Amino acid sequence: MAPSRSTERRLRVNHTDRERANHCPVCSKDRVQDDALCKCGYSFTDKVVTDWGGTRALVEAMPREAWPMRCRIIRGVLQNSGTSGTQTAKHLGHNKMYVSRANQLANALDRFPELATCPNEDSARRKLRTLEANNGVFPSTSGAFESEEDLQKYLQEHWSKTELGKEWVLQRKGHVRAAEIGIMDLLAKHQSRPVWLVVELKVLKTSDEVLGQILRYMGWVKRCCAGKDESVEGLVIASCADIQTLYGLECLPNVRMMRYRRLPDSLELCETSLIEFLIAGLSPDQRKELIARSSSMKA
Ligand SMILES: [Zn+2]
Repeated sequence: MAPSRSTERRLRVNHTDRERANHCPVCSKDRVQDDALCKCGYSFTDKVVTDWGGTRALVEAMPREAWPMRCRIIRGVLQNSGTSGTQTAKHLGHNKMYVSRANQLANALDRFPELATCPNEDSARRKLRTLEANNGVFPSTSGAFESEEDLQKYLQEHWSKTELGKEWVLQRKGHVRAAEIGIMDLLAKHQSRPVWLVVELKVLKTSDEVLGQILRYMGWVKRCCAGKDESVEGLVIASCADIQTLYGLECLPNVRMMRYRRLPDSLELCETSLIEFLIAGLSPDQRKELIARSSSMKA
C-alpha cells in the first residue's frame, strides 16, 4: 500500500530531523562521527553555540574575500546562539550593527546569488542596492506620478479606459470618508458579482503598513456599506512593491496588488505577486525549478 499523505509528510520530517542532527546549522559542515561539539563552537547536544572561543577563532581566521561564507556563518551563529543579538555580537568581538548587517547580507545572498562575486562586503552592499532598484520585475520609480492626489485623479478620470473599468464601477467621485478611521482612495463595486473593492494607492513604493490600512477600510465597507450577501476585496496600486508587503499578501486571499506604469497616453496596470519577486532573484536553473514546483502545487 502506498503511504498516505500524512505518513509521507512524517517520513519526510524524520528524514530532515536526521539530516539536521548530522549537519551543523552554523557552519553547514557534516558532523564528525559522534562529536558533541563542532569545530565552529556549536554543540550538537545543547543545540546552541557553547564554545564561543572556537566560533570567534573561526570567524576571525576567514580571509576578507571569504565574506559570503563569513556572513552565512554569522547568520548561523545568530540563529543558534541561544542569546540576544547584542550578546552574540559581544561574543564575536564585533558590534551589533556589523553582525546585523552581515545577517542581512547573508539573506541577500539567498535572493541574489550573483552578489558572491563581489570582492568585499561594501561592494556587495552597493551592488545589492542597484539590483534591488533595477530588478527587471520591479521597475524603478521612473514614470510614477508626483503625488497620490495626481494618481487618484488620473484613475478617476480615466477609470473606464483602465483594465479595472471593464469590471468595476466607481462608487463615488473623490476620496471616500470612512467615518473615524480615515479616508479611502477609491471605492468600487463589481458590475455583476456582489463584491465591493477598496483601492489603496501608493504613488511610489509600498510598505507593509498599507496592509493594515486597507484591511481597516475593507472592514468598514463590510460593516457600513455591504449587504448581507456581499463580500469585500482589496487592491493596492503602487509603482513599486516591497517584499514585506508581498509576504503579507500571501496570507490575505482577498487583497491583491497591481503595479502601475504611466505611459505617454495611458496607464498600464499589472498584477504583482511574491512568486514574481522571488523568481527575479534566481538563476535561470533555480527559476525553472521554482516554476515547475509552483505549477505542480497548483495542480
Ligand atoms: Zn559547525
